[in-house]
Amino acid sequence: MNREKILEIAEFRGITELICKQCGVVSTPAEVRLSFNGNKCGAYCPECNSYIKWLPTAKSWRIFLNAKVGMTDIEKISTDRLQWHLRNIKISEDLQNAIEKLIERRTTDPAAFIAPPPDIDTKKEIELMDREKYLIEQKALKQAEQKRLIKSIDDAADYVKIKELIARIEGLGKTVNDLERQILRTREKLRELNAG
Ligand SMILES: [Zn+2]
Repeated sequence: MNREKILEIAEFRGITELICKQCGVVSTPAEVRLSFNGNKCGAYCPECNSYIKWLPTAKSWRIFLNAKVGMTDIEKISTDRLQWHLRNIKISEDLQNAIEKLIERRTTDPAAFIAPPPDIDTKKEIELMDREKYLIEQKALKQAEQKRLIKSIDDAADYVKIKELIARIEGLGKTVNDLERQILRTREKLRELNAG
């Protein structure tokens, strides 16, 4: 990876200006200082030398699809799966724009879609990932409730009230354990699916 390559990729991707969040100076990719770090390339402000952003090191936009196929061109990923990614994964604004543009292009021109690798059951995968996310959220909710109840024991007026609180806390503990088991099972299923 070298400077020429990075500038070529930036041009290909339509990156024309980089704005420094520290001093507000606007630079072109050719004007910023580039710093290479492993496979990554950072852009630094020519004026105040602050870090601006990582620059792309490949012409195509790629995301991590799953353990089986790893990083994959977004062009080869189904629209359903891309939409899931937009909803659930924290990604850079540039990547978000690229995915949104791609989805829009597919909507207006269905022929633009390049089919995903045939061995990925996208629908099943999305189902499992949604389930995993839901279970994790439920577990966090139950744990928060449990914490709240444990705290409230201090304020409980009498023995009967305390006993009732403890029973509820124990019940929540069982639910949390059960959710944890379901999360592990779902992850196992995802792994099996990805191992094909
Ligand atoms: Zn600056």
